[in-house]
Amino acid sequence: MKHIGLIAHDECKSDLLKWVGKHLTALEPHHLFATGTTGGLLTETYPNLLVSRFRSGPLGGDQQMGSAIAEKTIDLLIFFIDPLGTHPHDVDIKALLRLAVLYDVPSAFNEATADFLVSSPHFQGPYEPHERDHGKYLARFAAKNRTSQ
Ligand code: PGA
Repeated sequence: MKHIGLIAHDECKSDLLKWVGKHLTALEPHHLFATGTTGGLLTETYPNLLVSRFRSGPLGGDQQMGSAIAEKTIDLLIFFIDPLGTHPHDVDIKALLRLAVLYDVPSAFNEATADFLVSSPHFQGPYEPHERDHGKYLARFAAKNRTSQ
């Protein structure tokens, strides 16, 4: 069972709901994690899905998703981003995307990429993300701290 993060900006929520409907059989065996409003709509529309909800995105839900990624409890992120809107929580979104890259979480930010992810052989089988070696960063940080003391 994979842990799949799902988020959609307001303008993209109906697209995400349709996308989930299209891939319902593939998604049903997995545990979904969603930001508040997205998760509420998913549960209402597809009551058989296992959905855990974070707070609404602008109220910290994207940060909670990022934190779950840092804790390595999210295997895959599907985030339907509205490329034409402005969002009060842009900084949270940027932080979430950075963590998804840092932890090598397979991520889709539009429907075509989400289709590719779900149809990948890795989707149903096991997949180990590439563990980055943070040793160099930590050593540089430690050295900087030593010189500033
Ligand atoms: P929402 O959050 O699911 O609570 O609407 C999504 C977002 O805008 O980040």
